[in-house]
Amino acid sequence: MLFRRSSPFLMLLLVGLPAACGGDNGDANPSTALATGVPAIPSPTPGGSTEGIGSLTALRDAGAWRAEGADEIEVWICHVPADSTAPIYNGLPLRLPLTAAGIADILNARVTPYFDALSHGLYQPQFRAGGEATLAADQEPQLCVDQAIVGADDTTDAVLVVADAEHRPEFPGGFGNPGVPCPAEPPCPVLDSRRSAYVGASDFHPDWGDQPPMDLVEHELGHAVGWTHSGFVDGADSPYQSAIDLMSNSAAPRETDASRRDGPDTLAINRFLAGWLTVADVWVAPLAGGSVALQPSTGTTGTRLAIAPLANGSYLTVESLTADGFNSHLPAGGIAVHRVVMTAEGAVQVIVPLVGEAPFTDLLQPDEFVESDGWRIAVSDGIVTITPVV
Ligand SMILES: [Zn+2]
Repeated sequence: MLFRRSSPFLMLLLVGLPAACGGDNGDANPSTALATGVPAIPSPTPGGSTEGIGSLTALRDAGAWRAEGADEIEVWICHVPADSTAPIYNGLPLRLPLTAAGIADILNARVTPYFDALSHGLYQPQFRAGGEATLAADQEPQLCVDQAIVGADDTTDAVLVVADAEHRPEFPGGFGNPGVPCPAEPPCPVLDSRRSAYVGASDFHPDWGDQPPMDLVEHELGHAVGWTHSGFVDGADSPYQSAIDLMSNSAAPRETDASRRDGPDTLAINRFLAGWLTVADVWVAPLAGGSVALQPSTGTTGTRLAIAPLANGSYLTVESLTADGFNSHLPAGGIAVHRVVMTAEGAVQVIVPLVGEAPFTDLLQPDEFVESDGWRIAVSDGIVTITPVV
């Protein structure tokens, strides 16, 4: 539920709730606020116990090794036979003369700086030429990925496979896989982890010249880092609906500015799971509610993620996005709120944007609030107040 324009009474009631009131709505005094005409700005309050986000820290502890330092990725070319009957390629005649070395050069020049920027220098995928795999006429692309995993060096952390054929438009452009938990201490050879990403040939079509789009490769590598889709509606005409996360519509920036080639930035929860944000950068909403001054989640300092745990084990995440950098396609900065849905096993199942409607670029502004899952997230000048809805 989203309220774009609160009534003045409601707005003043909200900004009057904060810390001193401990979220106790009975203490709010809207008549006083109305009398002054100057809404009180909430004061930041101490965060709640980080024990409340235990499943997220456990997930980070189990998986952040994937997103740490240099990630040695072999590039393999997947040759698709002209008579392929696999539905994803069926009937498409184009085969591109791609080379693993040529693609590794492009990715080192373009994708490595993207992740280096997202991680503030903590993660750098390093691409090098692997080899070539070939499908039989009836084989699906995963068979090429399997060949690359078996054929990779034992110092390789992951494989990226690029088909020499395009995909039929009704199929996704690629897929990515975070693999299985490393059985020994990281680094973990790809033969053990099976971390992989795969894309069709479309983004390396000669029509792109020397400026091919990188967002799809970046999205699939996001899966290989361990990230899950956000704003994904299975079965919809456009299932990737969010323009504020690499792990949704990765092409969103280019739809606003045709010169863009990288994906959007990603969400604070993904930075946290990658180990690029620490617990010290997170504010957990106390059960009674409270207020926090959020710094941009794409920045390098301050509290950059607010989390409200839900009784069912999932979470609401709140962050400040700015309309610059990889998010320069946003019309304006503001506050984004997501529901991070967890599985019973403690993995992230899906992430649901809760502010506005697709493409979710109309972020919460001061004097606006959103209610979801029993919490109200209200914004005033520089402060986010999260209170239980009673
Ligand atoms: Zn995906």
